[in-house]
Amino acid sequence: MTNSIADNLDAVRATLPEGVELVAVSKFHPVDALRQAYDAGQRRFGESRVQELTAKIPLMPPDTEWHFIGHLQTNKLKHIVGRVSMIESVDSLRLLGLIDDMSAERGVVSRVLMQVHVAAEQTKTGFLPDELLDWFAGRGFERLRATHICGLMGMATNTDDTARIDADFAAIADLRRRILAIAPDLRGFDTLSMGMSDDYPRAIAAGSTLVRVGTAIFGPREY
Ligand SMILES: *Cc1c(COP(=O)(O)O)cnc(C)c1O
Repeated sequence: MTNSIADNLDAVRATLPEGVELVAVSKFHPVDALRQAYDAGQRRFGESRVQELTAKIPLMPPDTEWHFIGHLQTNKLKHIVGRVSMIESVDSLRLLGLIDDMSAERGVVSRVLMQVHVAAEQTKTGFLPDELLDWFAGRGFERLRATHICGLMGMATNTDDTARIDADFAAIADLRRRILAIAPDLRGFDTLSMGMSDDYPRAIAAGSTLVRVGTAIFGPREY
């Protein structure tokens, strides 16, 4: 017998130190599974596809918090601005600008994370560390009207090489410190979203404040 979602959630929560928050990554899982997690006290869920997210929002209680964690196509932005508590996957300045414009238009403030690319895989998206350093040095954030950059999100290389995983997480954590050194007046740039089912304890050791855990809670996804 496999464990229940509530049991899995308890087991994951038991490993999270004070100050580390959990996004239950529910992509590809039915609303029934999200309900079980909700009933076990989980309020923050992560989804990576706009259509799936917008189908689930009306089916869950209104105090459910949604984090968007997938690559966001600009033509789908209109479906999520103002409807999610955080967009973790801002991977281009064009996307950031469009989020800001739409948020201002709609009279909302969007909370976002900048996605950093440090992993070896070419398939993963995100800014290179130097691109972000340049942008923060140029104080690009001052031009945002309705977007709050809350920190960084990143993924480690998908490998069994724990030294490489640790180096990737350390690079993301270090980038946050370097950005704060360049722009010490940056407020609320506190979130480091790093760590998934297979590597979140290593991410926490490297300074993660937000882990995105799917499989360890909901079991394997059926694509
Ligand atoms: C799917 C996904 C996760 C969760 O992965 P698990 O290995 O199932 O925990 C975390 N972050 C992102 C960006 C994802 O797309």
